[in-house]
Amino acid sequence: VLACRAVRKEFNGTVVLDDFALEVAEHEVVVLIGASGSGKSTLLRCVNLLEPISDGAIHLDGEHITDPRVDPDDVRRRIGMVFQSYNLFPHMTVLDNITLAPERVHGRSRASARTHATELLERVGLGEKAGEYPDRLSGGQQQRVAIVRALINSPRLLLLDEVTSALDPELVGEVLSLIHSLREEGMTMLLATHEMGFARQVADRVCFLDKGRVLEQGPPEQVLFEPEQHRTRQFLQRII
Ligand code: ATP
Ligand code: MG
Repeated sequence: VLACRAVRKEFNGTVVLDDFALEVAEHEVVVLIGASGSGKSTLLRCVNLLEPISDGAIHLDGEHITDPRVDPDDVRRRIGMVFQSYNLFPHMTVLDNITLAPERVHGRSRASARTHATELLERVGLGEKAGEYPDRLSGGQQQRVAIVRALINSPRLLLLDEVTSALDPELVGEVLSLIHSLREEGMTMLLATHEMGFARQVADRVCFLDKGRVLEQGPPEQVLFEPEQHRTRQFLQRII
C-alpha cells in the first residue's frame, strides 16, 4: 500500500528524515517507536502531504504521490489521519465534524456522507452523540469521533499519531479497542506511539526510528524484547 523510498526531510537545513525507507503492506499494522524528535510525526505528516519532502519519493498503491503534479486533496481522500489532539471543530456538531471534508472538499452528497457517518458512529458506540458538540464529549469519545472522521472516505491507509497520549488513563482503553477492531477488519495502519504495551499488542511490525532513519525493525516481540541494536536497547531501558 505504502512505500517510502530514500525520503529526506529537512527543516531549514536540519535533517529530520534521512534516506528513510519503509514499506507497509496491505492489512499490515506498522508501529513507529523512537525517542522524541526522532521523526515519527514528521514522517506521518509527509505521507499525508502535510509537509513537502526534500528528496526521495513516497508511493501509495504504486502511485508517486510526492510528485508535485499530484493533487494533495486526491491523496488525502485515500489516507486517513488522526492526531494526538483530536482537532475537532468546537463550533460544529459531531456529525458535521465528520461530514465536513467529504461534502466540501471531496464533493460527496450530503445525504450519502451523513448516512455513512451515522453508521460509523453507531459502530463505535457513539450513535447517540451525532448532534452533540465536541466539548460535551469525553476525551476518549472525542478521539473516537476523530477516528470516525478519518474513516469516512474508506481510506486505503490510516495514519495515527500518538492517538492515546492526550487521554486520561481510564479513557485509553476505549480508543485502543477501536484500533484493535479496525485491525481485525484488515485496515492498513501506520502509527506512532510511546506506549510499548500498545505497540506490542497491535503491531505486525515495529520500527525503531533513530535520527530520522529506521535503525531496527521486526515483529514486536523481537524489537521490544530482543533488540539487536544498542540504541534500541538504550531507548527501551529508558522508557520502561
Ligand atoms: P515526539 O515523540 O516528541 O512526538 P517525533 O518523533 O514525532 O517526536 P517529530 O515531531 O517528527 O518527532 O520531530 C522531528 C524533528 O523535526 C524535531 O527535531 C523537531 O524539532 C523537528 N521539526 C518538526 N516539525 C518542525 C517544523 N515545522 N519546523 C522545524 N522543525 C521541525
Ligand atoms: Mg510526534
